Amino acid sequence: MTARKVDGKKIGRTLEAAVAAEVAALSKDAAVQLTAVSVGGDGASDVYLAGQEKACSRVGIRFKLDRLPGTVIQQELEAHLAEVASDPRVTGIILQLPLPKHLDARRAQATLDPRKDVEGVHPANLGRVAGGRGVLEPCTAAAAVHILEAEQVALRGAEAVVVGHSEIVGKPAALMLLDRLATVTVCHIGTRDLAAHLRRADVVLVAVGKPGLVRGDMLRPGAAVVDIGINVVPDGAGGTKVVGDCAPDAAAAAGLLTPVPGGVGPVTVAMLLRNTVRAARLQRGLPATV
Ligand code: NAP
Repeated sequence: MTARKVDGKKIGRTLEAAVAAEVAALSKDAAVQLTAVSVGGDGASDVYLAGQEKACSRVGIRFKLDRLPGTVIQQELEAHLAEVASDPRVTGIILQLPLPKHLDARRAQATLDPRKDVEGVHPANLGRVAGGRGVLEPCTAAAAVHILEAEQVALRGAEAVVVGHSEIVGKPAALMLLDRLATVTVCHIGTRDLAAHLRRADVVLVAVGKPGLVRGDMLRPGAAVVDIGINVVPDGAGGTKVVGDCAPDAAAAAGLLTPVPGGVGPVTVAMLLRNTVRAARLQRGLPATV
C-alpha cells in the first residue's frame, strides 16, 4: 500500500476562498486587520512574517507589523500588546514566537485580548476548546483535524492516537478529536510503548519535533496519518531540508499521509486567516460562519 498524499495547499486554498468571501462582506463596514507583534527578529521569523503578510493579501485582510527591539522587557511587551488590543481598527493579534530568552511567552500570551487572539493561545480560548465550544481554536490543531475532515476520514468511533501533548498542539488536537467521538489516546515522553498504541490506531496525529519517530512498522496498515512535526535535517548534499516526524517508510504503511512540507503548514496559515475573520465577527456581535 502507498499512502494517499494529502495536498495541504489545495485544502488551505479552499478554506481561504471561503475566508476571502467573508472578508469582502465584513470590509464593507470596516477593514479586517491582523497585527503581528515581533520582538527582535531573526531570519526564521522574518520568513514566517512574510508568509503571513502574503496570506493576508490573498484574502483581503490588512496586515500590520509592529517590530519591538530585542531589548524590550516583559512589562513593555505586555503594555504594547494592551495598546494594540485597545485599538478598534485591530481585529486580530499575533505575538510572533520565539521571543528572546529573557521574555516569558506564555505570560505575554495570557495578556492578549481573547477576542483578538487569532492563534487561539490565550487560556480562555484553550479552555473553550476543552469545553467543546472552541471558536478561536489553536491553528495547528484545528488544521490537523480539518485535514482529516476534508479527506473524509471517519472520526466517530475511530481509534485515534495523538503523539505529543503540548498545550497548543497535542492537547487541543486530542480534545477536538474527542469532540468528534473518536476514542483518543495521547502518547508523550512518558509513554512506555509508543508502537503498541500506534498499531491500534485508525488515525494518528504526530506533533513532537523528532524526525523518524513514527516508522512504517509501527502503523496499522491503512491508518490516516497527519504529520505535524517540522524538523530541519541535513539533506546529504551539504545543505538542509525540512522533514516531519514520520520516517519515509511510513508512506508505505499508511492509507493517507500529510507530507512535510506541503501538508499541515498551508492549512495552519488558512486557519489563522479563518480565525481572523471569526474574531472580526465576534467583535461585531456576529456568529462565526467559516
Ligand atoms: P513542543 O511544545 O516541543 O511539544 C512536543 C511534544 O512532544 C511534547 O509534548 C513532548 O513531551 C513530546 N515528546 C517529546 N519527545 C517525545 C517522544 N519521544 N515520544 C512522544 N512524545 C514526545 O512542540 P509543539 O509546539 O507541540 O510542536 C510539535 C511539532 O510540530 C514541532 O516539530 C513543531 O515545529 C511542529 N509544528 C508545526 C506546525 C505547522 O504549522 N505545521 C505548527 C506548530 C508546530 P514533553 O513536553 O513531556 O517532553
